[in-house]
Amino acid sequence: MSNIGICEYVIGVIHDKDIWYYVGRYDANGMKLKPNEQYSSFLVDAKRYNDEDILREELESLPKTLTYKILELQRCPKCTKEFTEHPALSREDNETEICPECGVKEAIQAYINS
Ligand SMILES: [Zn+2]
Repeated sequence: MSNIGICEYVIGVIHDKDIWYYVGRYDANGMKLKPNEQYSSFLVDAKRYNDEDILREELESLPKTLTYKILELQRCPKCTKEFTEHPALSREDNETEICPECGVKEAIQAYINS
């Protein structure tokens, strides 16, 4: 949970009804990726930016044929998973932001307990 509080961003690419993530132009070995390899459906593959200006610069250089979205990376304090969706409020204290999956789990648990 080391990056709680540090703001990181990724570039989302609208792909039909899904969001894909921009991986970057090069792989880990510095090899140039083919255009169809520059996007992934897995957040873990996404290129991370901690500087919004650099992100916007890179965004400008991407093909205009696709629709992009700047996504803020958050880490769920409950399950420690990273997510970019709109967070849910924890029912435990009504202020902690948790991932949507944990939000659903808490809601189900609250229903079971009631
Ligand atoms: Zn979670």
